[in-house]
Amino acid sequence: MSKRIFSPRKRIALIAHDNKKSELIDWVYYNRGVLSRHELFATGTTGRLIEESIDRPVTKFLSGPLGGDQQIGALVAEGKIDILIFFWDPMASQPHDPDIKALLRLGVVWNIPMACNRATADFILTSALLQDAYETSQTDYSTYLTRKV
Ligand code: PGA
Repeated sequence: MSKRIFSPRKRIALIAHDNKKSELIDWVYYNRGVLSRHELFATGTTGRLIEESIDRPVTKFLSGPLGGDQQIGALVAEGKIDILIFFWDPMASQPHDPDIKALLRLGVVWNIPMACNRATADFILTSALLQDAYETSQTDYSTYLTRKV
């Protein structure tokens, strides 16, 4: 089974839908000490709000509906994002619903920790595994890749 290694300094992607932004910003501010040991990435608007809140740089992508979720999904597939914190809104449909589903799917395909609510985000951030290197086991897709077409 192949592996991917997360270094102790995790690459954390953060996204929140508009109705969830204040909750995510509150969580980021509360956890700014722990988060300062990791590298932060975000969709455009979420990233700007995080930078304003904790006064540190965030690698920002396009706004979610303009392709930001897909940009982060591409990094997940390339092994360049270790953790996804994605507070999506369960009470509102989004113009980019297919992109959201695609991102969550890639998180499962590549076996990265994903939090879609604050409780799970708390558990991830307080995990003993956060501060060390971590080997993720990867599903063996070789049968798929060598299929007859
Ligand atoms: P935003 O995008 O951070 O640019 O608002 C989030 C999203 O809706 O996916």
